[in-house]
Formats: sequence, structure tokens, C-alpha cells
Amino acid sequence: MKSTCHCSCGHTVFEVNGSPKLRIICHCTICQKYNAASHADVVVYKSSQVSQPPVNVVDFETYKRPPNVQRGQCSKCQQAVIEVFSFPLMPKLTMVPADMFVDDASLPKPCAHMFYERRVSDVEDELPKHNGFMSSQLAFFKRLWF
Ligand SMILES: [Zn+2]
Ligand SMILES: [Zn+2]
Repeated sequence: MKSTCHCSCGHTVFEVNGSPKLRIICHCTICQKYNAASHADVVVYKSSQVSQPPVNVVDFETYKRPPNVQRGQCSKCQQAVIEVFSFPLMPKLTMVPADMFVDDASLPKPCAHMFYERRVSDVEDELPKHNGFMSSQLAFFKRLWF
């Protein structure tokens, strides 16, 4: 199953193939800044499932602190469009903000909140809420691989 992703201005367009590994909500301050929003709602794929947009379409910024993350913004509208994670000894992961999907009804529901202690406001839902780096990372990897 292929889905098309595009930003609000239409400059950045790419496709994802098959089912995502998971969808998760992150409240960390980097995600807040990158998404210009109170939190990130991201869908996680293996990078091999995602057709990368041409390099000149997306401006990437690399955060050197491990894990190595490249966060891409549309070069025209600056919308958060794609994030590439490189972990040692693991397949590369690509995260796509949920609002990039034309048809987001086909997406799974978010499974948890990460870095909930950084939240801008409380969230009233039934999802597990993880605080702090270790708990948030564990929650992420547990759902990714098991
Ligand atoms: Zn985050
Ligand atoms: Zn754009």
C-alpha cells in the first residue's frame, strides 16, 4: 500500500510504502520548535519504505547529539516534513509528521506520549504517558521492535 505525503505548499512530495512501524506523540522541546507546535505527531517507517524527496526540496538540519537525527523542512514553506534517524547497528528510521498524509484515515492511532514532562498543556486521553529520556526511549524501541 502506497501513501502520498505532501506539505501544505505542495513543494515537498514523497511516497511511503507499506505499514508504518508505529505512530507516537512527542512533547520534547526540539519537536515543539521543529514543528512550530505544542507537540509532534509522527509516523515511523523504516527508511527503505520511504521515497526520499529530492535534496534541493528539503532543507536538512543535523542534530549531532546521539541519536543522530536529520530533520528536514520544506525549503519553501518551512513545514516540518521528514526526519531521518540513524542509530548504531540498526536499520535507519524515517519519521513523517502525521499531517503530511493526504489520507490520514489509513494511519494507525498514536500509541503513546513521549517526553510528556515537556508538555505545553495536559492531554486527556487513554494513551501511556512517558516522562524523561530513558522511559521515552524505551517506550519508543519497545513498540518499534516487539
Ligand atoms: Zn521529540
Ligand atoms: Zn512546502
